[in-house]
Amino acid sequence: MTIETRTSIVWDYGRAPESTDHIRLKDRYGLFIDGEFSEPADGTYVPTTNPATEEPIAEVAYGGPDDVAAAVEAARAAAPKWAALKDLERAKYLFRIARLIQEHARELAVVETMDGGKPLRESRDVDIPLAAAHFFHYAGWADKLRYGVNAREVSPLGVVGQIVPWNFPLLMAAWKLAPALACGNVAILKPAETTPLTALLLAEICQEAELPPGVVAILTGNGDTGAALVREKDINKIAFTGSTAVGRDIQAALAGRAVGLTLELGGKSANIVFEDAALDQAVEGIVNGIFFNQGHVCCAGSRLLIQESVRDEVIAKLWQRMGRLRVGDPLDKNTDVGAINSAEQLSRIEALVAAGESEGAVRQTIECELPERGYWFAPTLFTDVSPAHRIAVEEIFGPVVSVLTFRTQAEAIEKANNSRYGLAAGIWTDKGAKAFEVASALQAGVVWQNTYNHFDPTAAFGGYKESGFGREGGPAGLRPYLQVVR
Ligand code: NAP
Ligand code: MG
Repeated sequence: MTIETRTSIVWDYGRAPESTDHIRLKDRYGLFIDGEFSEPADGTYVPTTNPATEEPIAEVAYGGPDDVAAAVEAARAAAPKWAALKDLERAKYLFRIARLIQEHARELAVVETMDGGKPLRESRDVDIPLAAAHFFHYAGWADKLRYGVNAREVSPLGVVGQIVPWNFPLLMAAWKLAPALACGNVAILKPAETTPLTALLLAEICQEAELPPGVVAILTGNGDTGAALVREKDINKIAFTGSTAVGRDIQAALAGRAVGLTLELGGKSANIVFEDAALDQAVEGIVNGIFFNQGHVCCAGSRLLIQESVRDEVIAKLWQRMGRLRVGDPLDKNTDVGAINSAEQLSRIEALVAAGESEGAVRQTIECELPERGYWFAPTLFTDVSPAHRIAVEEIFGPVVSVLTFRTQAEAIEKANNSRYGLAAGIWTDKGAKAFEVASALQAGVVWQNTYNHFDPTAAFGGYKESGFGREGGPAGLRPYLQVVR
């Protein structure tokens, strides 16, 4: 027979790097206040780096208390005119910003990937298109606000301060700015220290859209800049996305003040696989649930609950699939898992993974060649996890999944709800009735059925318990930016 003469074909992807020559970054960015870029009061600039190379990309201003005060003053001055603008006129600006995001999509995607480390495939196909979609969606609401709030008469709140994290920098900026502006508020956005660049490009887009000065300010800096913004006297609302610890600090700082607050915080979301699920499809969903954006996702499916009867089969398929994940250069179009956002985040992940091992869970990490420089963590699976282990309780915010098992539907629900968080959940089953029954028993703001990490500007997103309060997206996302007059 000729069979022995055949050789198996081993093939791999060639490199497919996205080019960076088309991006136009300045060497240095000031604070965007009153429609202009200006020097920070104390003259401090700090470089933002590329976590995949550790190379600096551009220098960015650090906003201090005087800068925060100046931004609030400019915003207050701009507020009445923006609120008095005809609804349809306000909508036009939002449509313009949405279209300009689309026009600049390629540049925004590359800069997002360079500044934050996420794979280009994700910034190009998820972050940037969804950011534009949020502006389009809320542009459509600007002249229909009453219909979003039971036909009541509403007015804007005034000056809102918005603080966003580093995992979806431009997308989180869009989640915050689009509804705030549509409702007639003016906004001051504080991007995260490690990922300020796309927010600064958005400031240039606001200029290009001829948005009136003062309606949007972009105040780069660090946690102190955010803390100063929260403590400003003349502010009407704070919208925060980030960690539960900082959320708590903000809530305490605002106690007793007439300042609106919404908090979108952490999570430890359960992804539940029932024995009747389409298992190959579920495995794709598990991978997307925890390895999308290196697991730097507040709603990541980080607690995988598998029905015992299919445990071994699912784990075997998952491990095999994990071995095919391509980890490395985020600018390569074939990369699935990019760089960890910062050295600080990498050490947080390493500490929790070490705790998982010392508490007795079984760790498997895929073998892959990692670049010499930059911050990396290879996709990791923990089995034999008990519900009391730190890796089953605390948010790792990295590419690490903890597997727990269950026997019955009731046990799945109980285990899924056994968390101080309640941001999202996934259910994998062939039975529609079971999915609805389980979904209604879960304490989670979003429940996906036979999919995961699926986002849409028309759908509300937000938490239960320590995952925060308030909703973003869809008509529910209007309410936190409006007061009911009558
Ligand atoms: P973080 O430390 O809470 O930072 C979030 C933002 O708050 C950043 O802009 C940060 O600035 C700023 N900040 C830090 N300390 C502050 C203070 N005392 N007062 C006011 N602002 C302050 O969170 P992170 O570690 O960057 O982000 C990861 C966390 O965010 C995870 O827990 C994740 O679950 C959560 N998250 C939640 C959602 C959601 O929608 N629920 C979405 C994404 C992320 P600097 O970065 O400049 O320090
Ligand atoms: Mg950076």
